Amino acid sequence: MPLTVLFPMPALWPEWQAPLTAALAEGGLDARLAPEADPATVDYIVYAPSSPLQDFTPYTRARAVLSLWAGVERIVGNETLTMPLCRMVDPALTEGMVEWVVGHALRHHLGMDRHIVNPGHVWDPTCPPLARERPVTILGLGELGAACGQALAALNFPVTGWSRTPKQVPGLTCLSGPEGLDRALSTAAILVTLLPRTPGTENILDARTLALLPEGAVILNPGRGALIDDEALLAALDAGRVGHATLDVFRVEPLPGDHPYWTHPRVTVTPHIAADTRTASAARVVAENIRRGEAGEPFLHRVDRVRGY
Ligand code: NDP
Repeated sequence: MPLTVLFPMPALWPEWQAPLTAALAEGGLDARLAPEADPATVDYIVYAPSSPLQDFTPYTRARAVLSLWAGVERIVGNETLTMPLCRMVDPALTEGMVEWVVGHALRHHLGMDRHIVNPGHVWDPTCPPLARERPVTILGLGELGAACGQALAALNFPVTGWSRTPKQVPGLTCLSGPEGLDRALSTAAILVTLLPRTPGTENILDARTLALLPEGAVILNPGRGALIDDEALLAALDAGRVGHATLDVFRVEPLPGDHPYWTHPRVTVTPHIAADTRTASAARVVAENIRRGEAGEPFLHRVDRVRGY
């Protein structure tokens, strides 16, 4: 009998039906992809936060919930979800994140803004320093943080990365733990936050930690809005202590029209577009996890429900 793979996201169905069906077939799986099914017959559930599915209790036969999103903060605490939960690690999503981070880091490093918007036609021949003179710190050394760090290191930026547990990433200075955080922040001319949202990372950038940054540091946040205490950041931006913040993610999305970030001269807002899950490559990741589940092999990218990521 074919496997039943539930895809309970009506709005995403048109975009995902063909690539997922193709990936399941390419993976040699006899599987039926369905936008709706009797819960008792479902073998795997593909999930995105837009799904109306909140109660997983009737899915007694399901072997895993496979998230299309890398960040799982909206589902990880769901107590009705007792089967394994896997998050998305999509090579094309990683590629997109590297491009967003490198692009925005170079914008600030090269001081591009003053040449792009120069109404006074000022001839200012000040040359930016070399990348090797501009230390970057990345909070989070997972799939995305490590890839972004290595891309920046390849351009000669001295990159320090910080994670919960000690790590070794070639080309990067790796720090961990609370003391490591303070050291990592103290050198960050450019700070990139690529942490998941968990109770341990919420407001990790607050008045105390922002004060550790070098004067005029630039912050790039493509991680999650809740990593930042917004009031503390606005105060640091107003004072010029933080030179600029380029923010892709927010506590409330879409960012409300009257939020001070929209009009602050030292803030750039991008609308949660740093890195998208790309259907073709992500569908292959979903299919590979179903193949693993059926072969009795460990799932890829399984979320640790206690850690929260
Ligand atoms: P990973 O799970 O691979 O990596 C998470 C990293 O954060 C790990 O290095 C982990 O440490 C570290 N970390 C977690 N908690 C703490 C803590 N309390 N203290 C210190 N370090 C901590 O995640 P990804 O790299 O794949 O993704 C990171 C985040 O990026 C996602 O959770 C999501 O929020 C965001 N994202 C944003 C997108 C966008 O378009 N804006 C797109 C995709 C993702 P350790 O290595 O020790 O476990």
